[in-house]
Amino acid sequence: MDLIRCRGELKRLDSLRGLDPLCFVPTMGALHAGHLDLVKRAKAHGPTVVSIFVNPMQFGPGEDFDRYPRNLDDDLILLAPLGVDAVFVPAVAEMYARPDGVSVRAGARAAGLCGARRPGHFDGVVTVVAKLFHMVRPDIAVFGRKDAQQCLVIEEMVRDLAMGIRLLDVPTVRADDGLAMSSRNRFLDAVDRGRALALSRALGAAHRAIEEGERGIAVLEDLMALELADVDVVDYASVLSVPELERAESASGRLLLAIAAHVGPTRLIDNLVLEVDGNIVRETPLLEG
Ligand code: AMP
Repeated sequence: MDLIRCRGELKRLDSLRGLDPLCFVPTMGALHAGHLDLVKRAKAHGPTVVSIFVNPMQFGPGEDFDRYPRNLDDDLILLAPLGVDAVFVPAVAEMYARPDGVSVRAGARAAGLCGARRPGHFDGVVTVVAKLFHMVRPDIAVFGRKDAQQCLVIEEMVRDLAMGIRLLDVPTVRADDGLAMSSRNRFLDAVDRGRALALSRALGAAHRAIEEGERGIAVLEDLMALELADVDVVDYASVLSVPELERAESASGRLLLAIAAHVGPTRLIDNLVLEVDGNIVRETPLLEG
């Protein structure tokens, strides 16, 4: 597993370019089973590069950039057995050489949900992902459905800027009790860990209601809100159309059930993507692939 720390060393990735597509999994480290599923999916397609970079541009003032968990040694131990070919671990100065450098502005899909709650967040995400794409030059990039809006915002960038990279999304990996795996779960104490289950419970309640025939968006959002009564702040609990992320008129077609909520000092998100076709309701990928 080749550890690449600076742009000059990226030339070594050329040895991985061949018949199979070069695959890329961008992460912020503090890896868990969710990240590892992305890597396994990537490896099924071809040689795989993982990046680990806590991107300051996607954190707002007062958010958790400084305390975001960083443990490169543990991350490398998790990646090595998966046959990862290279790990790119740039320093902040490597990614942002000039404070007033060129950046990318996210498109319409970034307007609501986390984009509304975290101004500038998705501009930071697409800027760093664009830079990483240009540095790694992958054929395929793999993202987690847990960050559903992020997947769609990146897809919009790749389409609008004609980047020609195939995007795949991987289902959310959950703990046995339903909590979506997240690097931020380590901030939850035992009480908050219990309260955090409200997010997956709320998605489950809305999912079940749709399976039982409920099609009213307001009813479904109320159901989710009810399950979230015990968390500290609910940023949103919404049902939106995919891929536009606009308010759905009724629960049919492709839908995103999206929740962000604060549990103690920790902000968590969880998402479910459903295809509702008449009476048939099933989980579905977010990206065309
Ligand atoms: P992060 O390190 O949190 O920026 O996440 C890196 C990638 O891993 C993103 O594409 C996330 O959507 C994905 N990811 C994070 N948590 C999960 C999870 N529980 N299941 C699947 N993918 C995940």
